[in-house]
Amino acid sequence: MKQFYSIAIDGPAASGKSTAAKGVAKKLQFLYIDTGAMYRAFTHYMLSEHLNPKSEEDAQKLLPSLKLKEDKEGHIFLNGEDVSSEVRSLEVTNNVSYACAHLCVREKLVSLQQEMARSENVVMDGRDIGTVVLPDADLKIYQIASVDARAKRRYDEFIEQGLKITYEEIKQDLIRRDYIDSHREHSPLRPAEDAIVLDTSDMTIEEEINAIITLFYQKVGDIWNNTEK
Ligand code: C5P
Repeated sequence: MKQFYSIAIDGPAASGKSTAAKGVAKKLQFLYIDTGAMYRAFTHYMLSEHLNPKSEEDAQKLLPSLKLKEDKEGHIFLNGEDVSSEVRSLEVTNNVSYACAHLCVREKLVSLQQEMARSENVVMDGRDIGTVVLPDADLKIYQIASVDARAKRRYDEFIEQGLKITYEEIKQDLIRRDYIDSHREHSPLRPAEDAIVLDTSDMTIEEEINAIITLFYQKVGDIWNNTEK
């Protein structure tokens, strides 16, 4: 008998994955796991130890002492310290695609992510969830949006936080990160063969969440309805 359910949401940067994933998790009462935050926390760790995110040898040095935890409120803890705001810095954003491309880093974080999904119903978002982390996920979404729609969303978020950055800088950063993420050797960003592609360029957050929940019920409805939750 099926024990735990999982929903994988992948896609390029700022395609609205995390907001949608959080909303879906809340409505279904699943645990939300932000895998991007885990790679960001590792990158922050490397930078704070003055190591080079592009060096696999440097990355290797920190892996044995790496402890990551996410709580239900969406905070991320690095070796016991809450680094939720540090992981959103521009320095981390500019370096995360390098730090996360090393095979040793991917292996370690993927195994932590798989461990988290073993004992709970989860909604997990990232770049390789449907292809590598949860290849048997009950529902796989590959969420896309035009680069302008994505840059606009990120720009609005940054302005709200009072950060000084131009729309064009954000757009170029998204294009750069998507390129690195989809051309790297290990676990490149791509849709799983059985993923459903959801274009959210013209959707509101509420529409995205409802679309994903409807797809989830269509996929697992019969089992779900007959399962004691
Ligand atoms: O999702 P977010 O933009 O916070 O992710 C930050 C970076 O972490 C991505 O640009 C990507 O390089 C990396 N990442 C990854 N695999 C994941 C999640 C994120 O390589 N599953």
